[in-house]
Amino acid sequence: MEAAAPGQAQTVLGAVDAAELGITLAHDHLLFDGSFMYVDPADRGDQHLADEEITLANRGWVAYHWTSNRHNINLDSEEIAVAELGRFLAAGGRTIVDPTNLGLGRDPLPVARIAEATGAHVILGAGYYLGGTHPDDMDERSVDDLAAEIVADVRHGIGDTGIRAGVIGEIGCTWPWLPNEQKSLRAAVAAQVETGAPLMVHSGRDPMSPVEIAGIVDEEGGDLDRLTICHIDRTCTDRAWLADLAATGCYLEYDLFGNESSWYPPNPAVDMPSDAERMDVVLWHFEQGLAEQVLLSHDIATKHRLHAYGGLGYDHLVTNVLPRLLARGLSEADVRTLVVDNPARLFAFTEGR
Ligand SMILES: [Zn+2]
Repeated sequence: MEAAAPGQAQTVLGAVDAAELGITLAHDHLLFDGSFMYVDPADRGDQHLADEEITLANRGWVAYHWTSNRHNINLDSEEIAVAELGRFLAAGGRTIVDPTNLGLGRDPLPVARIAEATGAHVILGAGYYLGGTHPDDMDERSVDDLAAEIVADVRHGIGDTGIRAGVIGEIGCTWPWLPNEQKSLRAAVAAQVETGAPLMVHSGRDPMSPVEIAGIVDEEGGDLDRLTICHIDRTCTDRAWLADLAATGCYLEYDLFGNESSWYPPNPAVDMPSDAERMDVVLWHFEQGLAEQVLLSHDIATKHRLHAYGGLGYDHLVTNVLPRLLARGLSEADVRTLVVDNPARLFAFTEGR
């Protein structure tokens, strides 16, 4: 199997023409180890709920306090992933970008088996997530060391699996920035430039974070139009701020569709927007002529968001959100821009340098 040529996307089963990606989820996780997210239940009376399996009786609590149940923060079943992804395909979806990378339990062989079993195109991540998940010797690794690791994952395959990463990310950045995270981002940019792969960055939970990330990408000679800033919906939805960020040329990823609870455990200072508010922002992008920089997804990384545990699943966007966007006045072509054309442009490799 050859690595992706310019114009092709790189899936876990090999390179495909970007035109074949079809309806694409830009950011969702199939298998995921979210142990790093765990926080004890705030209420002492709820301690026992931390280790309970998810049931109908506790599902409401788990969904509200989704970082405080140890089962919830691990997507650990290939069988469930196959069934859930199958529903996305049955709804008309074709491709899922799974930016699970180092720190999030990336495991390419089972992901490739899921792709094989479902027939979905699956694009897997590379590079390092948040500093809290970095390996112990991260201090000793240089930007060049880290860049070489990412280039190897993209060009030659992850370990000896022969399975190649097709996206660099989600590169983890907290706020305020940790020095090793900035180093990992600089390495990711160098690898992006060398390989022509797309770059995806999990920004810190502060409006300054995406601005600084774009600055570093620019400083390192990266292509801002190959950069995606994830989780815009929980970072800032101020329209002037969005316009400034879009002016850098990057993609703005609204990847928390399906989160309909305003309580956001990782940052209680932020009220999580609803899908209706996300759709308002998407329509604003069209009004501003900025729709070609928009990506949509759910960032599913917990059990409670899967159908198997009472959630809306990977098909929510296609089944529920796209019809609502059409009802709000978008055309079929507009919707195609969001979920087909934009991902096809971004996830197609460009010529490396
Ligand atoms: Zn994610």
